[in-house]
Amino acid sequence: MSSQANPLETVFLGLGSNLEQPLVQLARALRAVHEIPGTALVRVSSFYDTAPVGLADQPNFVNAVAELQTTLSPHSLLKHLLNIEAEQYRIRDANTLRNGPRTLDLDILLFGHLQIDEPELTIPHPRMHQRAFVLWPLAEIAPELEIPGHGYVRELLLGLDVSGVRKLEGVTR
Ligand code: AMP
Repeated sequence: MSSQANPLETVFLGLGSNLEQPLVQLARALRAVHEIPGTALVRVSSFYDTAPVGLADQPNFVNAVAELQTTLSPHSLLKHLLNIEAEQYRIRDANTLRNGPRTLDLDILLFGHLQIDEPELTIPHPRMHQRAFVLWPLAEIAPELEIPGHGYVRELLLGLDVSGVRKLEGVTR
């Protein structure tokens, strides 16, 4: 029996937390991502303090993005990420508010040049091009990156209000 390895793909991941020590949550999640089989953490952005989008009455978030390399399929990577969220006490039920407070949110932003349009997995992430808290850290680690169907990260960022986003200086990742 031959096991066929998938090609190595470059993936960009969005991370966010606004509960239970967000900096600790993100650091722990990054360690867990590096432990995913067939997956390595290549680069991590600075951490950013960001005002909540949508539901205003909640603590500010800490957001970051990371570049990974993986031989996993997109669905397999998503399964591992959902497990990491669950391990860090993310409760996902009917009462979970969209854009509401959370201990950990992990989103696949880009997966190579793939485009996937399924409810359980949409790539590129459907709202990433509108979010300064995604594009600013992304521009920091991958300034030449293009979001298929939307344009270059750096140019998209110029059109967004970044007033709620502040880079956290002096934070050890
Ligand atoms: P959220 O509450 O925003 O974290 O949504 C989580 C759900 O979104 C997961 O159960 C995924 O199945 C689905 N989903 C769709 N596209 C993506 C993506 N690109 N990255 C992560 N989750 C996704």
